[in-house]
Amino acid sequence: EVLDDEPPLTPDLVKLAGWLSERYLCTKAAAVQALLPSGMRAKATTFLRIKTDPPDVYLPGSWESELLQELYQSPNKTKEQLVSEHTEWRPLIRAWVEKGFLEELHGVKHGIQAKTMAFLFTPLTSADLQTALDELSNRAKKQKELLSYLFDAGEALMMKDVFAVTGASSATLKPLLDKGYVVKEEREVNRDPYGIQHAEKSQPLPLTPTQENAYQTIKTAVDSGAPQTILLQGVTGSGKTEVYLQAIASCVEQDRQAIMLVPEIALTPQMVEQFKKRFGDEVAVLHSRLSTGEKYDEWRRIRHGEVNIVVGARSAIFAPFDSLGLMIIDEEHETSYKQDDHPKYLAREVAMYRARQHRATVVLGSATPALETRWWAHQGIVQRIEMPERVRGQKLPKVRVIDMRDELQSGNRSMFANALKQGIEERLERGEQVILFLNRRGFATFVLCRSCGYVARCRDCEIPLTYHKARGLESLRCHYCGFAERLPETCPDCKGDHVRHFGTGTQRVEEELGKVFPEAKVIRMDVDTTSGKDAHATLLSRFRKGEAQILLGTQMIAKGLDFPKVTLVGVISAETSLYLPDFRAAERTFQLLTQVAGRAGRHELPGEVIVQTYNPQHYAIQFAKHQEYEKFFDHEVRHRYTLNNPPFFELTAFTSVNEDEMKALHIARTLEDRLRRSLDGRDDVIILGTSPAPLARLQGKYRFNVVLKYKKFKGVSAPIREAYQSLQGEAQKLGGYLTIDVNAQMI
Ligand code: ADP
Ligand code: ZN
Repeated sequence: EVLDDEPPLTPDLVKLAGWLSERYLCTKAAAVQALLPSGMRAKATTFLRIKTDPPDVYLPGSWESELLQELYQSPNKTKEQLVSEHTEWRPLIRAWVEKGFLEELHGVKHGIQAKTMAFLFTPLTSADLQTALDELSNRAKKQKELLSYLFDAGEALMMKDVFAVTGASSATLKPLLDKGYVVKEEREVNRDPYGIQHAEKSQPLPLTPTQENAYQTIKTAVDSGAPQTILLQGVTGSGKTEVYLQAIASCVEQDRQAIMLVPEIALTPQMVEQFKKRFGDEVAVLHSRLSTGEKYDEWRRIRHGEVNIVVGARSAIFAPFDSLGLMIIDEEHETSYKQDDHPKYLAREVAMYRARQHRATVVLGSATPALETRWWAHQGIVQRIEMPERVRGQKLPKVRVIDMRDELQSGNRSMFANALKQGIEERLERGEQVILFLNRRGFATFVLCRSCGYVARCRDCEIPLTYHKARGLESLRCHYCGFAERLPETCPDCKGDHVRHFGTGTQRVEEELGKVFPEAKVIRMDVDTTSGKDAHATLLSRFRKGEAQILLGTQMIAKGLDFPKVTLVGVISAETSLYLPDFRAAERTFQLLTQVAGRAGRHELPGEVIVQTYNPQHYAIQFAKHQEYEKFFDHEVRHRYTLNNPPFFELTAFTSVNEDEMKALHIARTLEDRLRRSLDGRDDVIILGTSPAPLARLQGKYRFNVVLKYKKFKGVSAPIREAYQSLQGEAQKLGGYLTIDVNAQMI
């Protein structure tokens, strides 16, 4: 059977799939799947065909006659569809297949079909119409109205809309169809995930000189028709979005297409809104919360050239455009641009590959670029544009770092420093708003017995469990696998009753806020409060409307939000990200603090930021305090050089996973051996020996890492591939598996 009217992938995309599988060592199948919307993967299915009509005559309305009718009318329905719509047909179908009336055909079908809707139109000329109206009896008033309505419309209208407007029904329509006065047709329609919003179009703003310079540089690059990468390094509020919008408009005018990547759509509603307002129907939006059908439709709109612009998260970089001019990655340093499942691609690298294919330009935008990106700019491989000032000349907010040890010494045992408490009070009095940031959900990090030191841990992951409280019920949950149990009343080890929770989570802060500021309304945003489909948007719009004075959340509130009345941002604890066992911990902390600080004072009202910490001297915190990216970069890049970390070396991590600790270890050690043998004596390669992964045990399975550092992937890709492929099979034979993460962003 012919599945598609056209090849789903263009030659460019087929090449891209080949490159993905080479670069990230995944199968070609996995690479191709990454390029297609989920609904396009074909599924095996069964169709039913009538071989001979059953000899009996069935009464109209009986199951038998209904099934027959359906089989004749909709021969393309699958057996699964028929049975799911009418469970009562199941035994009947089985019996008829056994008796040989029906035959089962095995075939394939796309998981998703284009959506069709009934449309109505009239083929009559105006002379015909007069005759037709005369011919309809006087009593057929409704039919005459319906016919005239369709005639006046002069085009096909959606049947359900026609019924809604004219009050007609199928009964009204039927005689008109029978006489041929009206034609009914099934046509493909797109599922519009946004409803029909015809918002007023926004006009391009006159650019500031700095913006103009950035715009011209990008435009020149796009027009040059040579592949290029540009780093747009602009502080928060410097007006990068307007530059993006105008650069894209110029690219589209040249009949080339553009992709705009954002870290996560749900967290950047304002960006999407601005694109919709500027470009209307010209832009498709792709994100994870679309239904399979909606994704498929958006994908087809792109593939068929109905839109020229795509806004989306990571995977939108695969948008099937055939003449790309510009790809922009906003907040390019964000971790969400690395896919954590096969193929484990980095959006930035994919963009650069596609740029070479299409002779296009890549723009990497950020206030705090990834160290690598900034280093390439330093090396002259990437062109750097700076936007050091905010558009309306607003000052960057003043950042105060509070040493929590001093607070404790002066007798303040609360989780809020006095300065923060006072700051919140002032905002409440002035009717302004506050954002509080804490990179940890739940109530506390861990639960500890004060008598014996027992810490409650997940029995499968060995990670300390997190205390949660909902409707008075106290529970412990694992944030990695979701395991949950009730808070024990006594210590399971020493049977004492001094079990306490320590640390601070979002829920805990919320409870404390209720005590300290009983008059304030608080909106909490974390994984637990945003699981519903539109939860993000709803909470944010409630805050925007001023229904609450305090927005409290995890890193999901650090991105791209712009609230005029927010004049204070508080960071409850800066260390949450500082002590992760990750070579990027300092970079992440700097980025996070700078970004959070950027949420304050973006409009007329000046902003203030208060950071609470037990490590005020740490360089990441000190440089973030003055928002000095360049100094941070200088400092950090030296560390990276000394430790042979990116950007000087690239890291590839192998993880061996098995329920049996010895088996997991065996595979990792063997892999390490093979790598050492084939890469022996090379000074551009470093092999870090087998060690327990940072999450050493997850969901009941042991995990060991082998990490390889090298200067150029090309020089090691063959030995890596060999070692990986030969041991993958062995790992599976032992009941486990081996994964590889090329250019790992985190270890
Ligand atoms: P960034 O993305 O760099 O953090 P934004 O794009 O959010 O900054 O811009 C900050 C604010 O400045 C926004 O409210 C935006 O509407 C406004 N803005 C941007 N460019 C201009 C301009 N040329 N004239 C007036 N206002 C502008
Ligand atoms: Zn767990």
